[in-house]
Amino acid sequence: MDLAGKNKELEKIAQQVATCKKCSLYKNATKPVPGEENPQAEVMFIGEAPGYWEDQQGRPFVGQAGKLLNELLQLIKLPRESVFIANVIKHRPPGNRDPLPEEIEACKEFLDAQIKIIDPKIIVTLGRFSLNKFLPGEFISKIHGQARFVEFAGRKRIVIPMYHPAAALRNERIMEELKFDFQKIKKFLKSSLSDEENKDEENKQLSFI
Ligand code: SF4
Repeated sequence: MDLAGKNKELEKIAQQVATCKKCSLYKNATKPVPGEENPQAEVMFIGEAPGYWEDQQGRPFVGQAGKLLNELLQLIKLPRESVFIANVIKHRPPGNRDPLPEEIEACKEFLDAQIKIIDPKIIVTLGRFSLNKFLPGEFISKIHGQARFVEFAGRKRIVIPMYHPAAALRNERIMEELKFDFQKIKKFLKSSLSDEENKDEENKQLSFI
């Protein structure tokens, strides 16, 4: 799909999100937060749900955690405009509570459709809710920074689980681990694994440590 087609399809999803009533989260939200930045991104970041500032502005990762995400992106010289950023949940849960399983299920179609349209080579999951979308039952503390091949939306993709930036803001050790894990994104982007080679590596854990 070309850029114009991707923009058109993503806009359609944003409109559907704006009028969605599939769960109750829309009731207390100020603005929907469908996701933003580059429709042709090779790297897609997926967080949990909008927080206070995201809800106010209708944009993902614009509060303190977003500031940190931007800094981490600068650290690896990957401009925010070159990636796509979205969340598992598109409306803010009241008081920033964890999303409920039924809310994640109800909201799933929008994120799935975005992944299909953007078609990223690498998906970076931020936090446990997006991690468990691709790797159910796994724990971030165990597998953060370890890339896995996951078949999703018709193609094998590299999924790199990472801590949520909000967790790093609360814990210095997690901050260091997140910075370390971020360095690996560039290495994977530079790696020249062809589709054929990817096939051979099915479900094999990659290590660039
Ligand atoms: S959170 Fe998702 S499923 Fe729930 S109302 Fe918003 S867009 Fe719809």
